[in-house]
Amino acid sequence: MGVEGLTLIGARGAPMVEPFAARHLIAGAWQGSADGATFERLSPAHGVLVTRAAKGGAAETEAAIAAARAAFDDGRWSERSGKERATLLLRVADLIDRERERIARIETLEAGKPIAQARAEIEGAADLWRYAAALARTVAGDSHNSLGPDMLGLVLKEPIGVVSIICPWNFPFLIASQKLPFALAAGCAAVVKPSEMTPSTTVILGELLVEAGLPAGVVNIVLGYGQPVGAIMTTDPRVDMVTFTGSTAVGKGIVAAAAPTLKKVSLELGGKNPQVLFPDADLDAAVDAIVFGVYFNAGECCNSGSRIIVHEDIAEAVTERVVALSRKVTFGDPLDEATKVGAIVSPEHRAKIDAYVRGAVAAGAILRLGGAPLEVPGLGGQFYQPTVVAGVTPDMAIAREEVFGPVLSVLTFRTMEEAIALTNAAAYGLSAGVWSANVHTCLEFARRARAGTVWTNSWMDGFAEMPFGGMKESGQGRELGRYGLEEFLEVKTVQMRIGRTRAPWVAPSAAG
Ligand code: NDP
Repeated sequence: MGVEGLTLIGARGAPMVEPFAARHLIAGAWQGSADGATFERLSPAHGVLVTRAAKGGAAETEAAIAAARAAFDDGRWSERSGKERATLLLRVADLIDRERERIARIETLEAGKPIAQARAEIEGAADLWRYAAALARTVAGDSHNSLGPDMLGLVLKEPIGVVSIICPWNFPFLIASQKLPFALAAGCAAVVKPSEMTPSTTVILGELLVEAGLPAGVVNIVLGYGQPVGAIMTTDPRVDMVTFTGSTAVGKGIVAAAAPTLKKVSLELGGKNPQVLFPDADLDAAVDAIVFGVYFNAGECCNSGSRIIVHEDIAEAVTERVVALSRKVTFGDPLDEATKVGAIVSPEHRAKIDAYVRGAVAAGAILRLGGAPLEVPGLGGQFYQPTVVAGVTPDMAIAREEVFGPVLSVLTFRTMEEAIALTNAAAYGLSAGVWSANVHTCLEFARRARAGTVWTNSWMDGFAEMPFGGMKESGQGRELGRYGLEEFLEVKTVQMRIGRTRAPWVAPSAAG
């Protein structure tokens, strides 16, 4: 390190000159791998070593699962009251606030995202811990008092057990916080694997859980790759549930891997999310939301508004305005407070983005802006230009597949039927948006779009209270809101006979 502006921040704000040393948290102990294996993460924007992490194998993964299983089964957390769980989750939220700058800085360096955005994400994550704390005191089932005078029926909600939590690199701390506090509120124990590209902030979260007083073994963190760590987390019979955010391809593999042991699987996968613009829309607001929707987090976002479907009458005007506004977005050094869009997470991913754009142009689409890697003075070319591709037709890969980059596809429509057909043509169904001054148009679209979230005259608002998840190949299950808690709860039926005896099945007089 040592480069001006790149100093990491250690615990309680102390400057840190060494790369972050990330270790596993297993059964309450911080440890390296038994074979001494490590991996490194360089900042994609700056090319400096940010993290050196223990590289987990089968031994570490199995030890972490065993620790979670033991912690769950002996009730050290699962039998705590909702009040006790809530108190601890609130403490964690306060500690996240305390460590906000440190977490945000490492997240920025590992993921390549702008520091101001990272800071906002950490604040949002703390809010999720507080919201989950509130939910911890609401775990309740049903009672049935009308089954007859001698019966009382109870429906109990119980923690599902040991949960494997597998997270991606695009919002490492936030996505972990969309899952873990809800699992803990329910009373579960967990094994968490962050992406190998962004391990550190999950490790810091582990430090905060220890400081907050979470009993050892309730949350275990294993660092490493999908193979073997993720694979064992999805197949081991001691695991009751897997919750995963990432690509649809890996999500399908996890469903198959979890099938032999019939684990519950909750998936938050990709999207090909459209914003549909009718001619009566407020175009100033819509164009800004389009630009935000496609460039936020460099487009590396499951909710990226990666395609717009614009009424023919306004398509050219909207495209021109989007191109003009795109030119004003600040792409550059993630550590610069003014930067809106940072680096692409890896050279391989940048090549994938570029291949989609080239493929679209080869198929007849028209490049209206960008379409190539971006050189940032002093930092090199691990960035991608803001890119607008018009003349996109539904058969093109860029219209159907997740590009996960700062690339907007423009399609057109004439009627509501066409707009709905284009919206629903994608195999994905994560989110969709509609822009119109007419509430009837908005409502019709909202009802007919096959998407887990629909925004009307807005894009990507998010609230802890509102469930989030996808239809079709965007996933199954929901995070956030009350549903986010329910995912981690099992239902048990208790039927109690009270007072009177049950009618004998075999009449006493028939006894021999
Ligand atoms: P992946 O889906 O491959 O990885 C996500 C997580 O799953 C990582 O922690 C990864 O570990 C882990 N993993 C990989 N293989 C397995 C497995 N067999 N069993 C269990 N866990 C596994 O995402 P990528 O990073 O490869 O990104 C590829 C594409 O996925 C992107 O271009 C984008 O389209 C999409 N994506 C969608 C996200 C979303 O928010 N919905 C987030 C990230 C990506 P490891 O990386 O250590 O191998």
